[in-house]
Amino acid sequence: MKLERIIAASSNQGKIAEIKKIFKDAEIISMHDAGFEGDIEETGTTFKENAAIKAKTVGEKLKLPTIADDSGLCVDFLCGAPGIYSARFSGEGDAANRALLLERLRGAADRRAHFECAVCLYIPDGKTVFGVGRTDGHILEEERGKNGFGYDCLFYSDELKKSFGEATMREKNGVSHRARALKDLMLNLNKL
Ligand code: IMP
Repeated sequence: MKLERIIAASSNQGKIAEIKKIFKDAEIISMHDAGFEGDIEETGTTFKENAAIKAKTVGEKLKLPTIADDSGLCVDFLCGAPGIYSARFSGEGDAANRALLLERLRGAADRRAHFECAVCLYIPDGKTVFGVGRTDGHILEEERGKNGFGYDCLFYSDELKKSFGEATMREKNGVSHRARALKDLMLNLNKL
């Protein structure tokens, strides 16, 4: 299926740029530029549910194909936490989230973790198409690198052999959970 115009249910310019890179033939418009105002409550219990809630809320209102994502960090020793609560882990922002993570992992030998992302494309006839992606690594004992956002400087990527905080945007995009989820979505869309 070919779509000429897709709304991105996000105000994050980095995410919008990534969507543009994968959906090269479509015009990608941010939900704010398309006239969507207001907050969307993420009430789902999985990344897929939250991505679908965001895509449907915006897509149903604007009556246009809409793409949304939801992502987070899953740590084995913490049984998958913070997961869908990654952004709200400490309740006090990114730096406090990282401090809390280090605190919870103090003395832990098993520091394996992965980032996970689900993307959902809502098409106004009621169809939803999903894509999922993950990238594996472990949580460092201390922050390394200044690039990226969120947990990047604590996440050592198995594939890059460096932290996401030390990686360039291009290197990270080559292995990232979000890029993989978007590529998976594109494959699933092409099957329709
Ligand atoms: P959301 O998908 O924008 O809701 O992101 C959820 C949260 O997961 C972010 O606020 C970050 O804390 C974390 N997160 C998701 N993806 C990444 C990433 O690529 N690097 C670092 N942190 C991430």
